[in-house]
Amino acid sequence: MKLKTIEKLCCPFDKHDLNLQVLAKDIEDNIIEGILTCSTCQRKYPIIYGVPIMAPDEYRQIPLEQPVIEKWKLKYGIADTKLLP
Ligand SMILES: [Zn+2]
Repeated sequence: MKLKTIEKLCCPFDKHDLNLQVLAKDIEDNIIEGILTCSTCQRKYPIIYGVPIMAPDEYRQIPLEQPVIEKWKLKYGIADTKLLP
């Protein structure tokens, strides 16, 4: 996903701005892997294969998202892997 598109996204929980941590980009500078963190509630939304995984809490698939974050923790040295506050 393009950086300019990602910058338009907001937290589905409280509509606040998200901070982007870029983990991997392709040769056209599209973000392939990354983590969006809400500036207010601290929820984390992973970007997997270029797609931000963003849903309200009740629709989130934490058992599917968590292993991805744990893999990135080892690969990229992510300090905090907690997806929900
Ligand atoms: Zn939020």
